[in-house]
Amino acid sequence: MKILADYNTDELKEIARNFSQQSFRGGQLFKWISDGADYDGMSDIPKGLREELAKEYIAVPLEAVKTLSSVDGSKKYLYKLADGNLIECVYMPHAYGNTVCASTQVGCRMGCEFCASGKNGLERNLSAGEILYQVISANKSAGGTRNKRVVRNIVLMGSGEPLDNYDNVCKFIKLANEENGLNIGQRNISLSTCGLCDEIVRLADEGYSVTLSVSLHATTDEYRRKVMPIANKYSISDIIKAAKYYFDKTGRRVIFEYAMIKEINMNFFDAKRLSELTKGFASHVNLIMLNKVDGKNIAGCTRAEAERFMKKLNEFGVSASIRNSSGQDIGGACGQLRGRYL
Ligand code: SAH
Repeated sequence: MKILADYNTDELKEIARNFSQQSFRGGQLFKWISDGADYDGMSDIPKGLREELAKEYIAVPLEAVKTLSSVDGSKKYLYKLADGNLIECVYMPHAYGNTVCASTQVGCRMGCEFCASGKNGLERNLSAGEILYQVISANKSAGGTRNKRVVRNIVLMGSGEPLDNYDNVCKFIKLANEENGLNIGQRNISLSTCGLCDEIVRLADEGYSVTLSVSLHATTDEYRRKVMPIANKYSISDIIKAAKYYFDKTGRRVIFEYAMIKEINMNFFDAKRLSELTKGFASHVNLIMLNKVDGKNIAGCTRAEAERFMKKLNEFGVSASIRNSSGQDIGGACGQLRGRYL
């Protein structure tokens, strides 16, 4: 079975024509998909067409089989895909715009030491429609529709490495941008990567301008290689080069994610090196409180230690802040997106 949400309006028009229908049906379909409607709900589409489509295309490619609600208002959804695979997605209500944290792969093959998502390797890539539908579904659950959208921002920070699923993620960005759909602009989409430099450059060359977040987490290659296998392929200086390139091409400030690990990556010299690395282009360092992951023995730091490190960075002229981690109580925070039920 194919997934209806994988197609843009033009492609859906083509599909409608293939079923001997007028092409405007494609536009209608795209709107219904963006509203999270199943075939039953697509009231202005002829019943015959719906029945024919249903034989080949799935209209609702994922369903919440479990929902956890946090005291802070965020919600974690466990979505079951058509093939039975499970992914997680987090909805975070924010004064500055409600945000959905979506997954891009089932599992992940990057193998970062501190992260739960990659513990069992990569199962498969998500299709563009499966990424999009997490947002459609979370928007619908929060009472939103296509027209009256409740979700404002999307962060690709769930499980998976977005740039390791390059084509589908790019198609997802375009689908999310469509005026007849969710109409979420690239400025409201953040793509977080462990630092696939060739793909960062490609993204810029292909004219994308999403907010780029790079998971740096280290100021020396030696330490980075210990916790992030990808550091064997790209050095920190490769990353900085790619980040600068992205900034030059897009004019967008680059975000560096930095999970603080006590007595390891947050001393005076780390602060100094971070200031040197981030010199000369617009960037911001997002300091992350490391979340405990089952079976991993890496210690984070206290809030007071995090604040001292941030202050040090600020003194060196680095724009930095400590990220609020939503959904701590529901295992929705960074790096915890892994079904404990498994
Ligand atoms: N693969 C992408 C996006 C998914 S991870 C990436 O690496 O950026 C989203 C963010 O959560 C990354 O910055 C990642 O390094 C961070 N993260 C992973 N495990 C974490 C943990 N246990 N505590 C805090 N942050 C974590």
